[in-house]
Amino acid sequence: MAKIQAAQNRMFKNVFVCKKCGTKIKADSRKIIELKVKCRRCQRKAFRAIKKGK
Ligand SMILES: [Zn+2]
Repeated sequence: MAKIQAAQNRMFKNVFVCKKCGTKIKADSRKIIELKVKCRRCQRKAFRAIKKGK
């Protein structure tokens, strides 16, 4: 169980979804907050965190 949780954290912790076009992007959450990450498709800087399950 612990292993599975660790894998899920790796997969979802630093993944964000563009609010505009829904593109998933992998980035450090700090960079998202500091607006240093641009969507590669629409160049927007508005992202939300992915939420999966619990
Ligand atoms: Zn986008």
